[in-house]
Formats: sequence, C-alpha cells, structure tokens
Amino acid sequence: MAGGKLIVFSAPSGSGKTTIVRHLLGKPELNLAFSVSATSRPRRPREKHGEHYYFMTISEFKQHIKNEDFLEWEEVYRDNFYGTLKTEVERLWAEGKNVIFDIDVAGGLRIKRKFPEQTLAVFVKPPSVDELKIRLKKRSTESEDKINMRIAKASVELATAPQFDRIIKNYDLDTALQEAYDLVAAYVSDADVSPSAPEAEQS
Ligand code: 5GP
Repeated sequence: MAGGKLIVFSAPSGSGKTTIVRHLLGKPELNLAFSVSATSRPRRPREKHGEHYYFMTISEFKQHIKNEDFLEWEEVYRDNFYGTLKTEVERLWAEGKNVIFDIDVAGGLRIKRKFPEQTLAVFVKPPSVDELKIRLKKRSTESEDKINMRIAKASVELATAPQFDRIIKNYDLDTALQEAYDLVAAYVSDADVSPSAPEAEQS
C-alpha cells in the first residue's frame, strides 16, 4: 500500500476527538475524507452503516482478521472489535483524499508505525479523568457499566500521549478546534509529502 497523507486523531473515549474530526471534515480546503471503521459493537440509534461504521457480527469481523483485510484492528472493549479495512484507505487514496481517522490510541500508534512518513498522529487530551466521566454521562450513549469500562481504560491511554506527534489539550473546545485546524492545514499543505503533487512540480 502506498498513497496520500494519513491524519490520526486518538484519545480516550469522551475526550472530544470525534467533535474535532467532524469539525475538520467540514473544511473542504483540507481535502479530508473520513476512514469509516468496521466494528462489531451494536449500532446506536442515530448511526448509519457505511457512514459512521461498517457494522458487522463478531464472526464476520474475525473472518476479516483471518483474511488479513485490516490495516489495524483492536478489541477496544471486550467483544467490541474495531478495525480499519485496507480497502477503505485504498478507496479514499484513489479519490485523492487525505484520510482522517478517529480511532483508539493503540490503533493510532499502529498506523503511525506502519506509515511513519505519511502519518500525522494527534493525541487529544481531556482536562482530567473526572471530566471524562462527566462528559460520557452527559452523552448517555452507554450504560453505567460501559462508562466505567471506558474510564478504566482512559488512564492507560493517557500514558501513551508522548508517543504521538502532537498533543492537543481539549480544555476549551473552541481553542482545541482552532489548534487542530491549524495543525492539519499546515500538514496537508506541506508540498514535500503531498500525494497529489504532480511529479513535474516536485523536481
Ligand atoms: P465508539 O464505540 O465510542 O464509537 O468507539 C470506541 C473507541 O474505538 C473510540 O476510541 C474509537 O475512536 C475507537 N475506534 C473506532 N474505530 C476504530 C478502528 O478502526 N480501530 C481502532 N483501533 N479503534 C477504533
């Protein structure tokens, strides 16, 4: 596999990375496309297959693992598998897009290791674990049990922050959105690694 730029946003659940990624996707000048992940977790009421995730059963997911269809995959929470299909990234690269990911920290670092030269890996840091809990409760997409599972994982995830290229502190959303925009805009406009730069212009 080869191709364009990859921009990874990773963070503990509830840190606000999805809000940041959606904000960036609304900026046409960044030429971004969202990498739709595959998952075995149940679909939430407002989610659409093919837009938020490719929803599948655990056995379908495991078959894809066997077939080596994933660029990376993780059992992020017990029996909840998430992964990036190679075909998804190839499809978006073929469209000449910069691919943006909203994935967990282990998956984000895996992508960075596989494509070190063409990946910008960003860690979104929440103010505190307590604040995460408040945000997850407010969101009310998960049961109390599942919220606790996500919180338990957060401390481990926070420790991986230094391995990322950049850390954005999401203490104030507007500031974080602006910082993320500036960072990604600078990264995608860097002509040296631009996937779409014609060869004639590079020499
Ligand atoms: P949620 O269930 O809240 O949609 O996602 C749970 C976690 O899984 C989030 O941290 C999300 O970013 C992560 N995730 C989503 N897609 C992928 C993926 O393809 N690979 C990995 N490793 N994590 C993912």
